[in-house]
Amino acid sequence: MNPLIYLDYAATTPASPEVAQEMARYLTLDGCFANPASRSHMAGWMAEQAVEQARQQLARLIGADLREIVWTSGATEANNLALIGAARANPERGRHIITSSIEHKAVLDTCAWLEKQGYRITYLQPNAQGIISAEQLAAALTDETLLVSLMLINNELGSINPIEDYALLLRDHPALWHIDAAQAVGKLEIDVQRLGVDLLSISAHKFYGPKGIGALYVRRDPPVHLEAIIHGGGHERGMRSGTLATHQLVGLGVAARQAQEQMQADRAHVQACRQAFLAELDPQGYQAHSDLEQGWPGIVNLGFPGIEAETLMLALPDLAVSTGSACNSASIDPSYVLARLGVPRALALSSIRFSFGRYLTLEQAQQAGQQVQKALSSLR
Ligand SMILES: *Cc1c(COP(=O)(O)O)cnc(C)c1O
Repeated sequence: MNPLIYLDYAATTPASPEVAQEMARYLTLDGCFANPASRSHMAGWMAEQAVEQARQQLARLIGADLREIVWTSGATEANNLALIGAARANPERGRHIITSSIEHKAVLDTCAWLEKQGYRITYLQPNAQGIISAEQLAAALTDETLLVSLMLINNELGSINPIEDYALLLRDHPALWHIDAAQAVGKLEIDVQRLGVDLLSISAHKFYGPKGIGALYVRRDPPVHLEAIIHGGGHERGMRSGTLATHQLVGLGVAARQAQEQMQADRAHVQACRQAFLAELDPQGYQAHSDLEQGWPGIVNLGFPGIEAETLMLALPDLAVSTGSACNSASIDPSYVLARLGVPRALALSSIRFSFGRYLTLEQAQQAGQQVQKALSSLR
């Protein structure tokens, strides 16, 4: 039996068995492998139908219209397309962008690039819980503000930004509004229509779909103009060219359908997992960077004073956990998210992110907590 306990669902989730099974039917000669853009034969039409069904499934999950979904290779590309595409297509709106200092690197690095192109970026600073308030946003908005980009659930902390408050504020401001919802789609109820958001990034592998596929929601009414960053055959209404990956999209669609059906059960499950895990830990032995009351229960970031995270992880060979985001785990710098929260460097270097998901059992969550507590006791 594999003793590994996977507690890194915020980095990626496994594809659900139904997703993997369905995907396999869209690859080989006896399956539906044709190019969905092929208009000259039945095989192409069938592939197109599969892609459009996936579009329907995703649109339904977030309350969008079919024509508002633009397929991308994931949330990184969706974030790039949202920011660069909106900046280039809307020069009359101004050259000021508002974001936060704890966004995913796919937003922060894109903003840094735009800064070099002459855009002015405001990086809002989160409070100790990792939240950007609507008041902070209001204070930063100007007549020159072209775009606001703030995430929904933070990938390192699980903090949940008050997007309903942003919605009220931005309804009366001409700035475009983008949400990086990679950690939230399929987990929290999202209704793009009710929010009035203009652009929203989605990644399938964060909700039990395959890696390498995602989407950008692009509002149609009133229409949001984007300049493409990938040019080619004019797919996706000219916003993103490239042959559509039928099998990936079918997988994304099944994952979206399952997420919608199981959203309440999934949430209750990760909440129970977090409880089972934390119940095994001595509360004196850690400091929670995550908000255990208001935050998303699937992500718990804990600091263990006096013990380096690297040392603790070496003592926990059966746990798959991480320090901060996967993209940065090659570096030994403390997490920039914790740094911006004001967590002292030593404590940041003693911090681990535990993230829970659908296929973790309560027994595993409990065992993981026991293993952490045992390792802490022996290291101290
Ligand atoms: C995972 C993630 C991304 C990147 O998504 P990919 O599909 O892996 O490119 C972007 N933003 C957030 C908040 C994420 O968690």
